Amino acid sequence: MLKGVATLRFEDQTIEMKPGEILNIPEAAISQFKTETDNHMGFAAYLEPFSQYPVLQQRVLFVLEQLPSEVQLDFLDDARFCVTIDNYEPGIGWSFLMPTPGPPGNGSRCVVLRPKLSTASEQFAMYVIAHEFAHAFLRNGGWGEITDIEEAADAMAASWGFHRPEHTGWAI
Ligand SMILES: [Zn+2]
Repeated sequence: MLKGVATLRFEDQTIEMKPGEILNIPEAAISQFKTETDNHMGFAAYLEPFSQYPVLQQRVLFVLEQLPSEVQLDFLDDARFCVTIDNYEPGIGWSFLMPTPGPPGNGSRCVVLRPKLSTASEQFAMYVIAHEFAHAFLRNGGWGEITDIEEAADAMAASWGFHRPEHTGWAI
């Protein structure tokens, strides 16, 4: 016999359920659940650009799977969100988030990753990938009291289990 109250939490609502009660699931929650079960289909589109870089592809998939579901859903629900490979080699840094031009709701929201992340140490590469996803989730902004956007992305990546390695250099 179940005792107490089951609490179901969805993005912006909490549903309390007593034993024996028939749950009246809101439409939004059902579509959210369906999106979750479709995650793999959604992720496939994010992985396709890395087909030439199987090591990097596995790293991106690993990080995507570690993200909290609210973050995964935020990406999957936004048609402007994308993940792609940077084909243009020269340049500084290893990844960047494309700016979103225009007012919120317009433009693209793409995480662009460099092929060099295939050969970097696994810990460093996953940290960079998670850091970029954090920027995307935070819309290049701060996180709570952390107003510095780089610190915010690092803190969020760390909260997902991807800490900035002590040595951030590339593996030989
Ligand atoms: Zn950054």
